[in-house]
Amino acid sequence: MALSRRHFMAAGAAACTGALCGCAQSPATGRSFFAGMGGDINDDIKLGQQEHAKLVKSFGGVYEDRKLQSYVDSIGRKLAAHSEMPTLPYSFTIANSPIVNAFALPGGPVTVTRGLLALCNSEAELAGVLGHEIGHVTARHTAERQGQGMLAQLGVAALAIATGSNELASMASQGAQTMLQSYSRDQESEADALGARYMERTGYDVDKMVTFLDSLHSYSVVDGRMAGLPDGKVDDFNMMATHPRTVDRVRDAARLASGVRQVDPLVNREPYLNAINDLLFGDDPKQGMVVGTRFTHPELRFEFTVPDGFRITNGERSVRAQNPDGAVIVFDMAQTRAASMTSYLGREWAANAGLSGVEALTINGQEAATATTRGKAGNTVVDVRLLAIRKDENEVFRLVFLTPPALTARLSEPFRRTTYSFRRLSTAEAAAIQPLRLVVTYVRPGETVDSLARSFPFDRWNRDWFRLLNQLQENDPVKAGQVVKMIMAREGARG
Ligand SMILES: [Zn+2]
Repeated sequence: MALSRRHFMAAGAAACTGALCGCAQSPATGRSFFAGMGGDINDDIKLGQQEHAKLVKSFGGVYEDRKLQSYVDSIGRKLAAHSEMPTLPYSFTIANSPIVNAFALPGGPVTVTRGLLALCNSEAELAGVLGHEIGHVTARHTAERQGQGMLAQLGVAALAIATGSNELASMASQGAQTMLQSYSRDQESEADALGARYMERTGYDVDKMVTFLDSLHSYSVVDGRMAGLPDGKVDDFNMMATHPRTVDRVRDAARLASGVRQVDPLVNREPYLNAINDLLFGDDPKQGMVVGTRFTHPELRFEFTVPDGFRITNGERSVRAQNPDGAVIVFDMAQTRAASMTSYLGREWAANAGLSGVEALTINGQEAATATTRGKAGNTVVDVRLLAIRKDENEVFRLVFLTPPALTARLSEPFRRTTYSFRRLSTAEAAAIQPLRLVVTYVRPGETVDSLARSFPFDRWNRDWFRLLNQLQENDPVKAGQVVKMIMAREGARG
């Protein structure tokens, strides 16, 4: 919790009909486009500033490392100064999220996740990402996308009406939001062309845009396999989902930009690796951690395990797990004044949901209650099981299990096991949970890919992760003296 992988939805964007919307023009592309906001660049800036804090907050907040923040900001500013709109109020922020993604808002705010920084292997690769995002800003793609968030909001409203419970609907409908906000392939190609142009003008090696995309592909494959996703399918939150690009098209953009061969282009591998040394890797224990099918929250001191085949995503206010067949589990917390968990269910949480089979339970010593109902998500009927577990006098842990009716019987036993997996952690158990760190080190004589990867915490995926983070192909060896990224559990030097 406290970390959202939800995609950004431009909040409060008003519906517009033709007459109210103006045409806007991008100085980077020279193309006019239909802009829902009226087309004034100052409106872009205003909207971007308004939404920036919300976006960063929903991706774990600002990553607390001033030195690294200012390093990333300085690279972004150099690139933006070479764009067609150098006077926009650009900012470049690292969000404290383990996912790999980057976002641009209208008018200049650019956000990259620390997960993305971990994947980059040089300043030039990061410049490729930032340049691409600046391209989305200068081509005014985010303004072009305004309409899309609205559609999803309609979906949310439909579900609320169907279940008779606003709250329940907003929990269940996070799935709808995650399908949003991917750029079109044409917008991606345009952002690549512009990004490559800014890299070339700043002196960065334009080819590094291509090598980073290779890493992103490898990451998607390894990450997807670990999550049990079919090959080629990527997490909704992955950069590949929001920025659909192919290596061929990025390579074309790079070739076009560097038409004349670049002489001694900037790569800055070691300065970059030094800058990200000690970076927090994976989940931040302060926000709860996903370990395979288990969700652990050392700070709030609880954990639960979802059935095999469910993929957990940690949100700002809730945790969501989904399987490929469309079954969904949502966890969150709420205030209560109810005397018992059964009365909480029937009177506070789901008073209008037509509950049946309300039952009091004890789960690992905690007072709890469960009940079922049937609702509609858009045109789809879903079976709903609610579970409330008392945290203390004023607060309750809540789990919602949603299944298409055809799956309800099959998932009933797995969901029962999830229910009874919920338990509080002792203070000692919670204190023992340490975050992972990315540590940059030199390869010592005699060390191999196997010996180095052995200390990684990803079990049978260790070698894949080592090769992926260090851009090594299947049979590439390591050499003594080579600088490599390692992942280890240890106290952060920077706290
Ligand atoms: Zn993009």
